[in-house]
Amino acid sequence: MAETPEEKDAVTPAADQEVVDVQSATPTATEADQAAAKAAHPKAVRQLTEEEMTRVMVIGAHPDDPEFGAGGTIAKLAAQGKEIIYVLATSGDKGSHDPLVRPGQLATRREQEQRNAAAVLGVKDVIYLRYPDGILENTLALRARLAHLIRQHKPHILFAIDPWRHYQLAPDHRAAGYAALDALWAAREWHIFAEQLYGDEEPWRVSQAYLYWTDNADHFEDISDTIDKKVAALACHATQVGTDTERLETRMRERGKAEGEAVGMAYAEGFKLIKF
Ligand SMILES: [Zn+2]
Repeated sequence: MAETPEEKDAVTPAADQEVVDVQSATPTATEADQAAAKAAHPKAVRQLTEEEMTRVMVIGAHPDDPEFGAGGTIAKLAAQGKEIIYVLATSGDKGSHDPLVRPGQLATRREQEQRNAAAVLGVKDVIYLRYPDGILENTLALRARLAHLIRQHKPHILFAIDPWRHYQLAPDHRAAGYAALDALWAAREWHIFAEQLYGDEEPWRVSQAYLYWTDNADHFEDISDTIDKKVAALACHATQVGTDTERLETRMRERGKAEGEAVGMAYAEGFKLIKF
């Protein structure tokens, strides 16, 4: 039932009064409190040096995404002693055109291929979220899982697929890219997925995001010393790249050369780099 103007006027002062009461009863942080909070979390406000950024997380949609997108750079960072973990949303169980292949068996094979490839590059661990391949979505559930992993593993550097690449037709690649970046954003906040912050757990701020498979590369890594490792790691994904490693190597060298040409590197990988 619509209220009359009189009724509306009658409730307004009481509602206003209530708001004022709540505000005056809420303690507000003093400047000293705020300064103490800042001092307790110096990393949240200070830029870290390259050496201080020791932990790296690579998020992809499928086994082989990290190697195709950033294998040479990952090998480089591992050689510098950085601790690298992969998080893969799916295990690539639809990655076959053979109607007789069973998705569960393919997933098992591809997880092993991915572990082998990660070992070639010097990656410490691979985490599989085992969402079904081919139909990945950037759901709140996926975002929350990734945010929790970011808070637990505290990466300084995060690699994610660039979801804004024009004509990125693979839906999983778009979804994984968006989910990774949305999770990075959520992981920084006290009040988003706050249920994850029990005990001593705190938000975590990633310092740098490297977006791979991008149209807007503004950062190039020289992979001349690690392109062999990239090829060797990719060769582990036999279900995807076959057994013709010569062809694979030619393809990877051509791609690396094309990326490096404009910036005077023999072989490079290009990224959109975001610093926080
Ligand atoms: Zn993929």
